[in-house]
Amino acid sequence: MRKKGIFVLVLVLLAAIAAVASGGTRFWVEADKCSGCGDCLVVCPVNAITIEDGKSHIDPDACINCGLCQGVCTYDAIH
Ligand code: SF4
Ligand code: SF4
Repeated sequence: MRKKGIFVLVLVLLAAIAAVASGGTRFWVEADKCSGCGDCLVVCPVNAITIEDGKSHIDPDACINCGLCQGVCTYDAIH
């Protein structure tokens, strides 16, 4: 029983390490709330945001997790 717990813990740790190593972003857009206004796109220092089909999209490979986009979104669409 204890061995199973340790195995699960190791799996969780490996998944977390893989997420960090892959450059995973903490920020994502809730499409239902996004108006497509583009305010987030303007402030992104690395041009990681595009508007696709009228909704904001964050490129996880380009995002540096600065949080500026979340700060300007008046629709509370970025998490
Ligand atoms: S600022 Fe908010 S509502 Fe406007 S495009 Fe960006 S995510 Fe969508
Ligand atoms: S967190 Fe910063 S780098 Fe990432 S998408 Fe938002 S503004 Fe751009």
